[in-house]
Formats: sequence, structure tokens, C-alpha cells
Amino acid sequence: MSKPVVAIVGRPNVGKSTLFNVLAGEKISIVKDTPGVTRDRIYADTSWLDRDFTLIDTGGIEPESKDIIISQMREQAQIAIDTADVIVFITDVRQGLVDADSKVADMLRRSGKPVVLVVNKVDSFQKFMADVYEFYNLGIGDPHPISASSRLGIGDMLDAVIKYFPKHTGEEEEDERPRVAIVGKPNVGKSSIINKLVGEDRVIVSDIAGTTRDAIDTNIMHNGKEYVFIDTAGLRRKNKIKEELERYSIIRTVTAVERADVVLIVIDAEEGVTEQDAKIAGIAHERGKGIIIVVNKWDAIEKNDKTMREYENEVRRILSFMPYAEIMYVSAKTGQRLPKLFDMIDMVIENQTLRVATGVLNEIMSEAVAMQQPPSDKGKRLKLYYITQVAVKPPSFVIFVNDKELMHFSYTRYLENKIREAFGFKGTSLKFFIRERK
Ligand code: GDP
Ligand code: GDP
Repeated sequence: MSKPVVAIVGRPNVGKSTLFNVLAGEKISIVKDTPGVTRDRIYADTSWLDRDFTLIDTGGIEPESKDIIISQMREQAQIAIDTADVIVFITDVRQGLVDADSKVADMLRRSGKPVVLVVNKVDSFQKFMADVYEFYNLGIGDPHPISASSRLGIGDMLDAVIKYFPKHTGEEEEDERPRVAIVGKPNVGKSSIINKLVGEDRVIVSDIAGTTRDAIDTNIMHNGKEYVFIDTAGLRRKNKIKEELERYSIIRTVTAVERADVVLIVIDAEEGVTEQDAKIAGIAHERGKGIIIVVNKWDAIEKNDKTMREYENEVRRILSFMPYAEIMYVSAKTGQRLPKLFDMIDMVIENQTLRVATGVLNEIMSEAVAMQQPPSDKGKRLKLYYITQVAVKPPSFVIFVNDKELMHFSYTRYLENKIREAFGFKGTSLKFFIRERK
């Protein structure tokens, strides 16, 4: 099940970033070897009670004039409507209700998306509570008074947010169709790939009505099996500010990736792999999704018998944090190898959900330990007691050891390689948790 997405929307200076940081807290995910995306703090994985969710801050740079504020807020609100399960709309008790708030509230109300109205900077309930009632006029429900900077009212607000999350009924699991996100920079050929796939096999236009999200989903039948493609290209905003554009494209990527089983990272063969590609790939990597790197426009480059090899080396070098990713060379123009994508998608999903029996894992670990002695420090040697798989999507393992400090990253990687030698796990990352057994 994908995590719910909660988007924060509000005028400049109402306290969006402050609230975001309070909610993200220490839980903000920073994967060391992943490119800088997470540090931008546009999104974070967090939780309240037992519910995990992805938080996004739609707010961008400060606009200079009032007109711009309104148009920018509309953009923000639209992004939130397109991508979020729940929208947290923040206002400011000190500034009171302003015109821009009402305009955004109208938009949010019309979208039918769940909205939690928050009134920030209520640092003292005694002093400001009377001013909070004014916000009922927005017509989007009860205002929740908070003080982001003093961390007041946050719990009640989060209770209101998670009430809108889908219940843990298992119903969500019924949809067995593979979900494939197609991500990449503008102009790498994402739409062309989808169009070509649609042209060759037949499309069924999205069948679940009512939610805006589905507008960007395309269902494609292949060999009697249905796949859901989540396209990030379809919604191209006419945004003039580069920083904003980038923020939105990251939000789009994060939310599409979050909903997917497998992510196709599309790269333009003519351009080669760029920093921006690496950033986008980093999002899929840190989320533990199945990954296929799709080098598109393969028709457009001059090739000899070494080209593919050289290309692969280049991809592997720049995307060195995801050596497990599969690579395919395709052309949306000629259709070359596109049908093979489906087999690859099936294979990657199989690997994402593969479970290895504990007995077998421990045999592999014992052999690995016998072949290469575990590291030691100050006379104390690492002992590995036991390994077991605790989750799928991505496959996750717990290793019990005598001393966590002794478990070097390189030794974990060595064990990972041994497990991969035995089971492949192609196209999926593997997670390892190291625990001490006393
Ligand atoms: P954003 O532009 O919406 O992201 O707003 P920021 O989070 O940057 O906050 C704008 C200003 O409001 C900063 O000076 C914050 O310190 C201040 N601020 C944020 N939350 C509170 C609050 O709960 N009470 C008070 N008094 N100030 C706050
Ligand atoms: P998107 O922004 O990632 O959706 O990219 P588009 O699908 O709009 O494609 C951008 C441009 O690349 C268009 O001019 C396409 O015709 C071109 N293009 C897409 N795929 C291929 C391909 O496989 N080969 C070549 N030569 N051009 C392609």
C-alpha cells in the first residue's frame, strides 16, 4: 500500500516551513549516498501514531506583489489537489482572514479533497482564540488553532489529518494491477513512450472516476494483463519561475513514485545521464521502489558494437547508488524494445515481493562469514547471529549481531552481494537493519 500524501498549502509567511520542519522533525529521510533531493526539504516521510505518510510543502519562493501571491497560491493549491490525499491549509491568526485565503479556500472546496484548516501563530489560546472563529467564514470546516513555533495544537491537528487516511481494511490491496510510474526530466520522451505503448496495445481510459489523480493514470493492456501507468509529464504547468517549476516537478515525481510499484526512469540517450536525472533517480531509490532505467531515443545515436557497453558504464558511474537497477535501451519513435518493458516490469515486481526462507538466508550468511572474516575493532570481532527477512517492497532484512558499531557498511554490502548472487533481486533495492542481540 502506498503511503498517503499530505500537502501543506498557505500564503507566504503563515508558517508553512515552520510546521513542515516540526512535523518532519528528525524523521526526515536522508539517504547518505543519494543525491541532494531530500535536503531541499520539499518533502519528508513522517508518521503520527501508527500512520506513515509523506508530507509535502507546496510553498516556494516569496512573490513580490499581491497579484503574484494569488496566482502562485492557485498553482500551489492545484498541485496539492492533483497530488495529495489530504490538504493542510494554513492561515495566520495575526494577519487574520485575507482575500487570498478565501480564493484558495474556494478552490479547495470545489476540488472535493479533504482539507484540514489550520490557523497558525495561536501562541496563546487565551489571547487569540476569539480571532480563530473568523476562519469559519472560509466554509471549509473547523479551524484548528496551532502554534507551529511553540508546538501547540499539533497533535489535535494531526488527528484530524489522519482521520482522512484510508482505513487499514486491506481493501486497498485488492487492486493487483502493477503500477508503473514514468519519471524523468522534461523532453526525455515520457509522453512518447506512453503514447507508443498505448498505440500498440489498447488503452482503457481510467475507470475509477471522481479523483483528480486518475486523470494522469493510463491503463494499458498487454498480453491480457492490465498495467497502470502513472505519468508525470501530462501535467505541465505554465510556470515561469524556474525554482517553482523544479519544486513542482519534484513534488510530482515524489507523489507518482510513492504510488508506484516500479519506476521507469527515462533518460535521453542523446544527452546522456545528467545531475538532474540522478536527482530524480534518487527519489525512487530512497523510496525502495523497483527501478528500470529506460534509455530512450536509442534510434537517434550513432552506434557501434561498443556503444551499449560504454553507455552502461556511464549510467552505472553516475547512478552508482543504484547498481541493482535494470537498464533498457528503447526508442519511443521506432518502438524498439518497448514491448519488452512489460516483461521487465513483471520481473522487477516479482523481485520486489520475493521472500526468502530464514533457513536459506542463514546458510548464505554462514557461508559468507566463513569466506570473509567479519571486521573487528580494538580486539572485538563482529559476530553475526541470525538473519531474517521482515518485509517485501522492498525486501528488507534484519541481521542480529553482537555489536552494531562493528557492522561496517562494506560488510553489509558484502552480505547483500552474496544474497544477490543467490537470488538476483534484480531491479530492487534491499534494506538491511542491524540489531544487537544481548
Ligand atoms: P512560510 O513562508 O509559510 O513557510 O512561513 P515560515 O515558516 O517561514 O514562517 C514565517 C514567519 O512566521 C517566521 O518568522 C516564523 O518564525 C514565524 N512563525 C511560524 N510559526 C509561528 C507561530 O506559531 N507563532 C509565531 N508567533 N510565529 C510563527
Ligand atoms: P516528455 O516531456 O518526457 O514527455 O517528452 P516527449 O514525449 O514530449 O518527447 C520530447 C521530444 O523528444 C519530442 O520532440 C519527441 O518527438 C522526441 N522523442 C521522444 N522519444 C523519442 C525517440 O525515441 N527518438 C527520437 N529520436 N525522438 C524522440
